[in-house]
Amino acid sequence: MSTTPQAAAKPATPPPRKPGVFICTGCGIGEAVKVDALSGTVTKEQKIAHVKTHGALCSEEGGALIKADVAAGITHPVIAACSHRVMTDRFQFPGAEVIRANLREQVAWSQAPMTEDTQMLAADQVRMAIAQAKKMEAPKPAALADTSSVVLVVGGGVTGLSAALEASRAGHEVVLVERSDRLGGWAAQWSQRLPHRPPYREPQKNDIGALIDTVTATKSISVHTNSIVSKTSGGPGRFSVTLSKAGAEQVLAAGAIVLATGWRPYDATKLGHLGYGGSPDVVTGVELESLFKDGRLKRKSDGKEVRSIAFLQCAGSRDPDHLPYCSSVCCGVSIRQAMQVLKADPKASAYIIYEELRTPGTAEELYREAQRSGVIFMKGKVKGVAKDMTVTYADELLGEEVPLAGLDMIVLATG
Ligand SMILES: Cc1cc2nc3c(=O)[nH]c(=O)nc-3n(C[C@H](O)[C@H](O)[C@H](O)COP(=O)(O)OP(=O)(O)OC[C@H]3O[C@@H](n4cnc5c(N)ncnc54)[C@H](O)[C@@H]3O)c2cc1C
Ligand code: SF4
Ligand code: SF4
Repeated sequence: MSTTPQAAAKPATPPPRKPGVFICTGCGIGEAVKVDALSGTVTKEQKIAHVKTHGALCSEEGGALIKADVAAGITHPVIAACSHRVMTDRFQFPGAEVIRANLREQVAWSQAPMTEDTQMLAADQVRMAIAQAKKMEAPKPAALADTSSVVLVVGGGVTGLSAALEASRAGHEVVLVERSDRLGGWAAQWSQRLPHRPPYREPQKNDIGALIDTVTATKSISVHTNSIVSKTSGGPGRFSVTLSKAGAEQVLAAGAIVLATGWRPYDATKLGHLGYGGSPDVVTGVELESLFKDGRLKRKSDGKEVRSIAFLQCAGSRDPDHLPYCSSVCCGVSIRQAMQVLKADPKASAYIIYEELRTPGTAEELYREAQRSGVIFMKGKVKGVAKDMTVTYADELLGEEVPLAGLDMIVLATG
């Protein structure tokens, strides 16, 4: 190591400020303003010797003129021409601070030509730009000290897992906090998943396990299960976060926080009017997932195989007495589940009763494939579910109420 004392590094001294004024006479400016008089304002009154005029400063020749003068030492070219909103790409000269004076829109195009007032206005535009050229300082970038680039992700469902992985791929250290003892959230419970790869026509294997494995194997992601965030303070770039796990606390610094704490299924006990609670064979879409996991679908009541199943859409969603909004996923989910039923037992019947089907984007492919594979779609409003599991709905095409009897299972498509 050198023992010679080092002189403190001095910031580079900027070159002396040397403004130059370039007046364009194109676009009607030359016909509206006495350009010689304007040049006189620049040289005599503003004491700037470097003033040039050109018929079209935005032309190649005009640009080359300014560029050459910048190379020769002009540090602040004042371009008295059109609005600063236009020709921004033309008037870029690396190393120079370009200032624009608007002689076109605010003078030539909006004032009477060659009047005293117009001339005064043009001179004022140029004076203001020259004042900028003489006094303007380029803003210095704010240097923030003590910031953290750690990303804290709260919630280890599919959203939190994806956010953690993407943040780590972008080069950040990630702290992933999950309240429960395992990662995956609700997605870990699904028997299969909506297709997310072309051709988007079949339910796909639930690959959440692979995502969990990738996250847990990623060194830059530290996973904290059975943990919650008990306190945060500070702000973006410098949060202080307290993690709590089994009564023990740990304080971490984080630059950003991603909240991915997920959702709760709608409380189906409020859906008695759709038969929930009346029979164990009226289930929600969430409950159906665990029944799939046992292989072929069986009735909860007596273990008989399900040969006929109906899905009632918008159960508790888009309903002013329940959730007023669309839960957005249940149309696709019912279609997937109906296809799974038919795949397991091609002789089974699967009905989807809907008022509107919301299958945007690639979900439309799944919808068409479900029609081809035999899922029966019926448009209408459900009027009631009887004790014997008969569903009555007002069929929109037939214009009358239709009973659907003989069902083994009814699925309420709750969000
Ligand atoms: C029946 C049904 C089937 C579905 N099937 C599919 C499908 O096939 N394909 C598909 O793409 N989508 C499907 N969905 C939708 C999908 O389940 C959701 O989009 C997904 O679960 C959203 O994941 P998430 O991580 O945002 O939330 P969640 O799955 O709810 O995960 C949130 C996580 O955050 C944790 N958490 C909550 N609060 C805290 C806290 N304070 N601190 C720390 N951790 C916390 C929770 O424990 C949980 O692990 C289905 C939905 C339903 C209802
Ligand atoms: S567009 Fe601007 S720079 Fe080009 S001629 Fe018109 S006023 Fe001059
Ligand atoms: S069933 Fe379809 S339309 Fe109804 S709430 Fe769910 S996604 Fe929206």
